[in-house]
Amino acid sequence: MASISIRNLVKRYGNFTVIPDLNLEIADHEFVVFVGPSGCGKSTLLRIIAGLEPITSGDLYIGDKRVNGVQAAQRDIAMVFQDYALYPHMRVYDNMSFALELRGTPKAEIDARVKRAAALLHIEPYLDRKPKELSGGQRQRVAMGRAIVRNPKAFLFDEPLSNLDAKLRGQVRAEIKALSQELKTTMVFVTHDQIEAMTMADRIVVLQGGTIQQYDTPETVYERP
Ligand code: ADP
Ligand code: ADP
Repeated sequence: MASISIRNLVKRYGNFTVIPDLNLEIADHEFVVFVGPSGCGKSTLLRIIAGLEPITSGDLYIGDKRVNGVQAAQRDIAMVFQDYALYPHMRVYDNMSFALELRGTPKAEIDARVKRAAALLHIEPYLDRKPKELSGGQRQRVAMGRAIVRNPKAFLFDEPLSNLDAKLRGQVRAEIKALSQELKTTMVFVTHDQIEAMTMADRIVVLQGGTIQQYDTPETVYERP
Protein backbone atom coordinates (compact mmCIF):
# COMPACT_ATOMS: atom_id res chain seq x y z
CA MET A 1 0.00 0.00 0.00
CA ALA A 2 1.64 3.15 -1.18
CA SER A 3 1.32 6.17 -3.39
CA ILE A 4 3.36 6.38 -6.59
CA SER A 5 4.88 9.69 -7.56
CA ILE A 6 6.64 10.37 -10.87
CA ARG A 7 8.44 13.69 -11.28
CA ASN A 8 9.97 15.13 -14.45
CA LEU A 9 10.46 11.67 -15.89
CA VAL A 10 12.39 11.42 -19.15
CA LYS A 11 12.88 8.09 -20.94
CA ARG A 12 14.96 7.65 -24.08
CA TYR A 13 15.98 4.56 -25.99
CA GLY A 14 19.19 5.79 -27.65
CA ASN A 15 18.17 8.93 -29.54
CA PHE A 16 14.49 8.06 -29.45
CA THR A 17 12.51 9.85 -26.74
CA VAL A 18 9.57 7.76 -25.52
CA ILE A 19 8.66 9.98 -22.55
CA PRO A 20 9.71 13.64 -22.90
CA ASP A 21 8.70 14.99 -19.44
CA LEU A 22 6.08 13.29 -17.33
CA ASN A 23 4.62 14.12 -13.91
CA LEU A 24 2.08 11.83 -12.29
CA GLU A 25 0.75 11.37 -8.76
CA ILE A 26 -1.13 8.14 -7.99
CA ALA A 27 -2.72 8.12 -4.55
CA ASP A 28 -2.46 5.29 -2.04
CA HIS A 29 -5.26 2.72 -2.73
CA GLU A 30 -6.10 4.33 -6.05
CA PHE A 31 -7.04 2.26 -9.11
CA VAL A 32 -5.51 4.00 -12.11
CA VAL A 33 -5.88 2.82 -15.69
CA PHE A 34 -3.46 3.84 -18.48
CA VAL A 35 -5.01 4.07 -21.93
CA GLY A 36 -3.69 5.35 -25.24
CA PRO A 37 -2.68 4.18 -28.71
CA SER A 38 -0.15 1.44 -29.29
CA GLY A 39 3.38 2.75 -28.84
CA CYS A 40 2.42 5.72 -26.62
CA GLY A 41 4.58 4.43 -23.76
CA LYS A 42 2.11 2.61 -21.48
CA SER A 43 4.24 -0.52 -21.05
CA THR A 44 7.43 1.48 -20.75
CA LEU A 45 5.93 3.51 -17.92
CA LEU A 46 4.73 0.39 -16.14
CA ARG A 47 8.14 -1.25 -16.48
CA ILE A 48 9.78 1.89 -15.14
CA ILE A 49 7.56 1.84 -12.04
CA ALA A 50 8.31 -1.87 -11.57
CA GLY A 51 12.05 -1.24 -11.82
CA LEU A 52 12.44 -3.36 -14.96
CA GLU A 53 13.56 -0.40 -17.06
CA PRO A 54 16.05 2.33 -16.08
CA ILE A 55 15.01 5.97 -16.42
CA THR A 56 16.98 8.59 -18.32
CA SER A 57 16.27 11.34 -15.79
CA GLY A 58 13.69 12.39 -13.21
CA ASP A 59 12.52 10.88 -9.95
CA LEU A 60 10.27 8.04 -8.91
CA TYR A 61 8.83 7.64 -5.40
CA ILE A 62 6.96 4.68 -3.94
CA GLY A 63 5.35 6.05 -0.80
CA ASP A 64 7.86 8.58 0.47
CA LYS A 65 10.86 6.52 -0.64
CA ARG A 66 12.83 7.55 -3.72
CA VAL A 67 13.44 4.35 -5.66
CA ASN A 68 15.42 5.51 -8.73
CA GLY A 69 18.31 3.12 -8.13
CA VAL A 70 16.35 0.43 -6.26
CA GLN A 71 16.19 -2.97 -7.96
CA ALA A 72 12.86 -4.45 -9.00
CA ALA A 73 12.96 -7.19 -6.37
CA GLN A 74 13.40 -4.62 -3.59
CA ARG A 75 10.50 -2.39 -4.65
CA ASP A 76 7.65 -4.51 -3.24
CA ILE A 77 5.67 -4.10 -6.42
CA ALA A 78 3.99 -6.97 -8.23
CA MET A 79 3.52 -7.08 -11.97
CA VAL A 80 0.95 -9.25 -13.77
CA PHE A 81 1.46 -9.87 -17.50
CA GLN A 82 -0.91 -10.87 -20.29
CA ASP A 83 1.07 -14.01 -21.07
CA TYR A 84 0.86 -15.06 -17.38
CA ALA A 85 4.58 -15.96 -17.28
CA LEU A 86 3.88 -19.04 -15.14
CA TYR A 87 6.49 -21.76 -14.66
CA PRO A 88 5.15 -24.62 -16.80
CA HIS A 89 6.78 -27.46 -14.88
CA MET A 90 5.59 -26.30 -11.44
CA ARG A 91 2.24 -26.97 -9.82
CA VAL A 92 -0.01 -23.97 -9.21
CA TYR A 93 0.88 -24.07 -5.51
CA ASP A 94 4.60 -23.89 -6.29
CA ASN A 95 4.10 -21.15 -8.86
CA MET A 96 2.52 -19.12 -6.07
CA SER A 97 4.94 -20.04 -3.27
CA PHE A 98 8.21 -19.88 -5.20
CA ALA A 99 9.07 -16.20 -4.68
CA LEU A 100 8.35 -16.47 -0.94
CA GLU A 101 10.57 -19.54 -0.63
CA LEU A 102 13.41 -17.65 -2.29
CA ARG A 103 12.94 -14.91 0.28
CA GLY A 104 13.10 -17.40 3.14
CA THR A 105 9.55 -16.85 4.35
CA PRO A 106 8.63 -19.56 6.92
CA LYS A 107 6.74 -22.55 5.45
CA ALA A 108 3.64 -22.09 7.61
CA GLU A 109 3.32 -18.47 6.59
CA ILE A 110 3.81 -19.34 2.90
CA ASP A 111 1.08 -21.94 3.19
CA ALA A 112 -1.32 -19.50 4.84
CA ARG A 113 -0.69 -16.83 2.22
CA VAL A 114 -1.06 -19.23 -0.74
CA LYS A 115 -4.32 -20.62 0.66
CA ARG A 116 -5.73 -17.18 1.38
CA ALA A 117 -4.91 -15.97 -2.14
CA ALA A 118 -6.31 -19.18 -3.65
CA ALA A 119 -9.55 -18.64 -1.73
CA LEU A 120 -9.80 -15.02 -2.83
CA LEU A 121 -9.35 -16.09 -6.46
CA HIS A 122 -11.43 -19.29 -6.30
CA ILE A 123 -8.55 -21.48 -7.47
CA GLU A 124 -8.27 -23.80 -4.44
CA PRO A 125 -9.27 -26.88 -6.51
CA TYR A 126 -6.37 -26.34 -8.91
CA LEU A 127 -3.42 -25.97 -6.53
CA ASP A 128 -1.99 -29.38 -7.52
CA ARG A 129 -2.35 -28.88 -11.27
CA LYS A 130 0.24 -27.72 -13.76
CA PRO A 131 -0.53 -24.53 -15.73
CA LYS A 132 -1.21 -26.48 -18.94
CA GLU A 133 -4.09 -28.25 -17.19
CA LEU A 134 -5.88 -24.95 -16.63
CA SER A 135 -8.08 -22.73 -18.74
CA GLY A 136 -6.93 -19.24 -19.71
CA GLY A 137 -8.99 -17.61 -16.99
CA GLN A 138 -7.61 -19.94 -14.36
CA ARG A 139 -4.05 -19.26 -15.46
CA GLN A 140 -4.68 -15.54 -15.23
CA ARG A 141 -5.96 -16.05 -11.67
CA VAL A 142 -2.83 -18.01 -10.78
CA ALA A 143 -0.71 -15.15 -12.14
CA MET A 144 -2.63 -12.79 -9.86
CA GLY A 145 -2.31 -15.21 -6.96
CA ARG A 146 1.43 -15.25 -7.39
CA ALA A 147 1.38 -11.46 -7.10
CA ILE A 148 -0.99 -11.35 -4.12
CA VAL A 149 1.02 -13.71 -1.90
CA ARG A 150 3.87 -11.21 -1.88
CA ASN A 151 1.71 -8.58 -0.12
CA PRO A 152 3.01 -5.92 -2.52
CA LYS A 153 2.64 -2.18 -2.04
CA ALA A 154 1.17 -1.92 -5.52
CA PHE A 155 0.04 -4.11 -8.41
CA LEU A 156 0.89 -3.32 -12.01
CA PHE A 157 -1.16 -5.04 -14.71
CA ASP A 158 0.01 -5.02 -18.33
CA GLU A 159 -3.08 -5.87 -20.41
CA PRO A 160 -3.74 -8.93 -18.25
CA LEU A 161 -7.07 -9.81 -19.86
CA SER A 162 -6.26 -9.54 -23.55
CA ASN A 163 -5.79 -13.30 -24.00
CA LEU A 164 -9.19 -14.10 -22.53
CA ASP A 165 -12.46 -14.39 -24.41
CA ALA A 166 -15.09 -11.68 -23.91
CA LYS A 167 -17.16 -13.48 -21.28
CA LEU A 168 -14.19 -14.46 -19.16
CA ARG A 169 -12.73 -10.97 -19.51
CA GLY A 170 -15.84 -9.55 -17.89
CA GLN A 171 -15.60 -12.02 -15.02
CA VAL A 172 -11.92 -11.54 -14.29
CA ARG A 173 -12.35 -7.77 -14.63
CA ALA A 174 -14.98 -7.82 -11.89
CA GLU A 175 -12.75 -10.00 -9.74
CA ILE A 176 -9.76 -7.68 -10.07
CA LYS A 177 -11.96 -4.73 -9.13
CA ALA A 178 -13.29 -6.62 -6.10
CA LEU A 179 -9.75 -7.62 -5.11
CA SER A 180 -8.59 -4.03 -5.26
CA GLN A 181 -11.31 -3.10 -2.79
CA GLU A 182 -10.58 -6.05 -0.53
CA LEU A 183 -6.78 -5.69 -0.54
CA LYS A 184 -6.84 -1.88 -0.48
CA THR A 185 -3.74 -1.81 -2.63
CA THR A 186 -2.68 0.71 -5.25
CA MET A 187 -3.36 -0.64 -8.73
CA VAL A 188 -2.09 0.50 -12.11
CA PHE A 189 -3.74 -1.22 -15.05
CA VAL A 190 -2.81 -0.88 -18.73
CA THR A 191 -5.45 -1.65 -21.32
CA HIS A 192 -6.65 -0.98 -24.87
CA ASP A 193 -10.22 -1.66 -23.82
CA GLN A 194 -12.43 1.32 -23.09
CA ILE A 195 -14.97 -0.77 -21.17
CA GLU A 196 -12.23 -2.08 -18.90
CA ALA A 197 -11.02 1.45 -18.28
CA MET A 198 -14.50 2.79 -17.56
CA THR A 199 -15.57 0.03 -15.21
CA MET A 200 -12.36 -0.37 -13.23
CA ALA A 201 -10.68 3.00 -12.90
CA ASP A 202 -10.92 5.55 -10.13
CA ARG A 203 -8.94 7.71 -12.52
CA ILE A 204 -7.78 7.27 -16.11
CA VAL A 205 -4.47 8.45 -17.54
CA VAL A 206 -4.74 9.12 -21.27
CA LEU A 207 -1.27 8.90 -22.81
CA GLN A 208 -0.18 10.03 -26.25
CA GLY A 209 3.41 10.15 -27.43
CA GLY A 210 4.65 9.67 -23.87
CA THR A 211 2.68 12.70 -22.67
CA ILE A 212 -0.35 12.76 -20.39
CA GLN A 213 -3.29 14.19 -22.35
CA GLN A 214 -5.78 13.79 -19.54
CA TYR A 215 -5.85 12.46 -15.97
CA ASP A 216 -9.37 12.33 -14.65
CA THR A 217 -12.35 10.20 -13.63
CA PRO A 218 -13.90 7.83 -16.23
CA GLU A 219 -17.03 10.00 -16.31
CA THR A 220 -15.00 13.03 -17.38
CA VAL A 221 -12.66 11.24 -19.79
CA TYR A 222 -15.46 9.47 -21.64
CA GLU A 223 -18.07 12.20 -21.37
CA ARG A 224 -20.03 12.51 -24.59
CA PRO A 225 -20.05 15.94 -26.21
P1 ADP B 1 2.68 0.88 -25.46
O1 ADP B 1 2.79 -0.02 -24.29
O2 ADP B 1 1.89 2.11 -25.19
O3 ADP B 1 2.21 0.19 -26.70
P2 ADP B 1 5.57 0.92 -25.30
O4 ADP B 1 5.84 1.49 -23.97
O5 ADP B 1 5.68 -0.55 -25.47
O6 ADP B 1 4.14 1.42 -25.81
O7 ADP B 1 6.53 1.60 -26.37
C1 ADP B 1 6.68 3.00 -26.48
C2 ADP B 1 7.66 3.33 -27.58
O8 ADP B 1 8.97 2.94 -27.19
C3 ADP B 1 7.36 2.61 -28.90
O9 ADP B 1 7.66 3.51 -29.94
C4 ADP B 1 8.34 1.47 -28.87
O10 ADP B 1 8.67 1.08 -30.16
C5 ADP B 1 9.52 2.04 -28.13
N1 ADP B 1 10.28 1.02 -27.38
C6 ADP B 1 9.81 0.22 -26.41
N2 ADP B 1 10.77 -0.58 -25.92
C7 ADP B 1 11.90 -0.27 -26.61
C8 ADP B 1 13.27 -0.73 -26.57
N3 ADP B 1 13.65 -1.68 -25.71
N4 ADP B 1 14.13 -0.15 -27.43
C9 ADP B 1 13.75 0.80 -28.28
N5 ADP B 1 12.50 1.30 -28.35
C10 ADP B 1 11.59 0.77 -27.55
P1 ADP C 1 -12.08 -21.80 -20.96
O1 ADP C 1 -13.49 -21.60 -20.49
O2 ADP C 1 -11.11 -20.85 -20.34
O3 ADP C 1 -11.92 -21.92 -22.43
P2 ADP C 1 -11.33 -24.60 -21.03
O4 ADP C 1 -12.42 -24.96 -22.00
O5 ADP C 1 -9.92 -24.55 -21.49
O6 ADP C 1 -11.70 -23.21 -20.31
O7 ADP C 1 -11.38 -25.57 -19.79
C1 ADP C 1 -12.64 -25.86 -19.19
C2 ADP C 1 -12.38 -26.66 -17.90
O8 ADP C 1 -11.60 -27.82 -18.15
C3 ADP C 1 -11.61 -25.82 -16.90
O9 ADP C 1 -12.28 -25.88 -15.67
C4 ADP C 1 -10.24 -26.48 -16.79
O10 ADP C 1 -9.81 -26.52 -15.46
C5 ADP C 1 -10.47 -27.88 -17.29
N1 ADP C 1 -9.30 -28.33 -18.04
C6 ADP C 1 -8.80 -27.79 -19.16
N2 ADP C 1 -7.72 -28.46 -19.58
C7 ADP C 1 -7.51 -29.46 -18.68
C8 ADP C 1 -6.56 -30.50 -18.55
N3 ADP C 1 -5.57 -30.68 -19.44
N4 ADP C 1 -6.64 -31.32 -17.50
C9 ADP C 1 -7.63 -31.16 -16.61
N5 ADP C 1 -8.58 -30.20 -16.68
C10 ADP C 1 -8.52 -29.37 -17.70
